[in-house]
Amino acid sequence: MTISSSSKIHTYIAPAKVNLSLQIGNKRADGYHELASIVGFTEFGDYLTLEISNADQLRLLGMFSTNITTPTSKNLVMRAIHTLRNHNFDIPPLKITIDKQIPVGGGLGGGSSDAATIFLALNDIFDLNLTKSYLENIALQVGADVPVCLNRDFVTMRGIGERVTVISPSAKPKYVVLTNPNFIMSTNTVFEEFDKEPLESILKRPLENWSIEQLLAGGNSLEKPAIKIYPQIGILLSTMKALYSSNEREGLSSVRMSGSGAGCFALFDDAEKANMFCRKIQGAGYWAVSTKFISNF
Ligand code: ATP
Repeated sequence: MTISSSSKIHTYIAPAKVNLSLQIGNKRADGYHELASIVGFTEFGDYLTLEISNADQLRLLGMFSTNITTPTSKNLVMRAIHTLRNHNFDIPPLKITIDKQIPVGGGLGGGSSDAATIFLALNDIFDLNLTKSYLENIALQVGADVPVCLNRDFVTMRGIGERVTVISPSAKPKYVVLTNPNFIMSTNTVFEEFDKEPLESILKRPLENWSIEQLLAGGNSLEKPAIKIYPQIGILLSTMKALYSSNEREGLSSVRMSGSGAGCFALFDDAEKANMFCRKIQGAGYWAVSTKFISNF
């Protein structure tokens, strides 16, 4: 989503990614897990600014910028730019600013969304005319979660996350409060803990055959292992559940962890209720934002 564009400076929002549900299946021979997930994207996100310059420069701003530990050359944004150049696209040196609003390592796909937004931005600014499927292929070279972040609508992710389909979920949520227990989560550690337990029998059924309703009802397979290693996530979820009025979204468990954590979320139909809930979570000492899902339906 372009939010402003002069002839020189272009500003985009890289939305936060929320896994409304996430089922993890078998580990494949290559070490990746089969998965199936319903994902939504929010109006809240990082602000990316691009400007043609004499040399590549990356500037990190925002409250979470100091949590990005990767060197500039390995930042997912720079990797996206280099990937396009390696495919012989003539991208001039760029001065990029990331205003990091999405908690780093928070299961909200911040880095992947930044990279995906750079692909969309460069396609737009330099009239590259890249098709969606070309962008998806090239995005996968930067990370397994980058292709899904090219979307601005509810989608299903299958395979290892590379097979993405836009959907209109039957119980489409409108508003969401994103929260974070104020620490950085290691995705690998959570998967290692997940692998210690035998797969629940329900997950032995091929994830390919799960309907959207079954996926939404199924929750997040990583919640249990994540809470086991980081009990703070369990405390945050209990705090959220205690503050959440249970009649908000009947039939859909509406307080969950996103991705591999540590970020969690609560769904709402009403903006004012979402805002009130957000203030209560902030009052309990957590980072929280109230925002809206992006949807074209
Ligand atoms: P996911 O939900 O896809 O599992 P996440 O939200 O848990 O992702 P990120 O915030 O994307 O995790 O960060 C993961 C790692 O990527 C961190 O170690 C961070 O240093 C690195 N990283 C590289 N580039 C970026 C970027 N542009 N923004 C955030 N993190 C980045």
